[in-house]
Order: sequence, then structure tokens, then C-alpha cells
Amino acid sequence: MSDIYEEIRYKKYSKLTKAQRNEMDNGDLELCTCERCDDIGCSWSETYWKGEDSWVTNVILDEYEAVCDDCYFELSKKWKANLRILYYKTIDFFKGLAGLPTPDA
Ligand SMILES: [Zn+2]
Repeated sequence: MSDIYEEIRYKKYSKLTKAQRNEMDNGDLELCTCERCDDIGCSWSETYWKGEDSWVTNVILDEYEAVCDDCYFELSKKWKANLRILYYKTIDFFKGLAGLPTPDA
């Protein structure tokens, strides 16, 4: 890989010099800026893209088009927590319908 690649990788886009930004914006470096934290990483091995993998990835990405590995992990934790809450709320709801005791009762 080129020197400029190593120079820019793992930096924040907002911290780049003008020359580095130009290189980045050319798009030939196979680097991508995370929309969530502004970190720059490899666009195919360190970035999650919307529409690429599965619907699960799309749900986790939510309003983002591309995020780094770390942000993806953070986002997925948030969604897993939400799903867990939804799961128990659903169980409580059906227990309530069936007249069974719920933890809140
Ligand atoms: Zn990120």
C-alpha cells in the first residue's frame, strides 16, 4: 500500500490536512470515513456498508450508510439490548392476555 494510505488510515477525517483530504476524496485509496465517529479505515475490511450484507446489518446501521467496525459493534449492542427488552415485553404482554402473573403484577 502507498505511504499516503498508511498516513491517513485510522486518523479522523476532520483532522486531515487539505492535501490528505484531497487524496481521500479522490476515492482511489480504498479508505472510508466512518459516519458516526469520523475515523478512517479500510473500506472493505474495516467498514460496514448499508445494503451489502443482510437486513440485520441494515437495521443495525439505521440512519448510517457506512460505519467502522467499532461503531458497528456499539450500534449492534444497542439493538440487541432493544430486542431483548422487546422480547420480554412481548412475553409479558401475552402472559397478561392469558391471565398469567407478570413480573410487574
Ligand atoms: Zn466509527
